[in-house]
Amino acid sequence: MPELPEVEGVVRALSPKIVGKVISRASLSETIYQSHQLGKQCIVKNMEPAAFELALSGMEIKRVHRRAKYIFMDLEKDGNPFLLVNHLGMTGAWFVVQKEEDILEEKFKKHIHARFSLTTGELLIFSDIRRFGEFRLLHTIDEHPPLLQIAPEPFNQNALNYFLAKCELPKYANKPIKEVIMDGQVISGCGNIYATEALFHVGIHPARKTGRISKERKIALFEAIQKVLLESIEMGGSTISDYRNINGEAGGMQHRLKMYGKKICPNCSANTKTMTIGGRTSVYCPKCQH
Ligand SMILES: [Zn+2]
Repeated sequence: MPELPEVEGVVRALSPKIVGKVISRASLSETIYQSHQLGKQCIVKNMEPAAFELALSGMEIKRVHRRAKYIFMDLEKDGNPFLLVNHLGMTGAWFVVQKEEDILEEKFKKHIHARFSLTTGELLIFSDIRRFGEFRLLHTIDEHPPLLQIAPEPFNQNALNYFLAKCELPKYANKPIKEVIMDGQVISGCGNIYATEALFHVGIHPARKTGRISKERKIALFEAIQKVLLESIEMGGSTISDYRNINGEAGGMQHRLKMYGKKICPNCSANTKTMTIGGRTSVYCPKCQH
């Protein structure tokens, strides 16, 4: 699943290609239409597909930015501002091409769910193999309250104190630290890969109860999360399974990961162990992490 660095990579690649351009026509897949008829709201949430297509037609793309793992597109039509919120889910991918055939990988070409024709003649395409991606068209962020609950961006000045304060709450203090740092209401944008890496860097066992970790170690952990996220942004993200940036390119961070997906600890050569925490598989070194 794309985490903060991967989403940042998509935003940085997408922004210069589409900002200032106008969507002349939006068209959603038959799969989306059918799911809505069955009451399932595949990909397009809280809006009929036909209404979504109509609303998007004529929108100018003013800005593309990231909030946690969401892509925000500021749009404007007839002088009215709109916000298109997109989550990549497990396998969402964007492409800007002249024609669909320009998408080189067959699996992405086969699972196109949204086509936005731009007045420049280009196509902005959202492809999603597993269909966990999401679109929400809002006027303002308040219309989807979960967006208001997201923790500050991890590089913001207040993010560390926000994290420390959340850790004190009983609902988090009793939980394993790994589950807490992967909670978007505690730290935004840290998923399984970077949580695994950061815990290894500071030698904290992923199952350790949050309330049993000293403030100093929690600060070190937070700084390790910031560091690994920044490093990954610089490397273009990690390419695990089907993540691609908009040119279909893979990132390079997966070659720098020390613990995620590893069988042997790079520090002490012990065999790593795995356990399930918060529904996700966690890899750790039984000798180096306590
Ligand atoms: Zn070790």
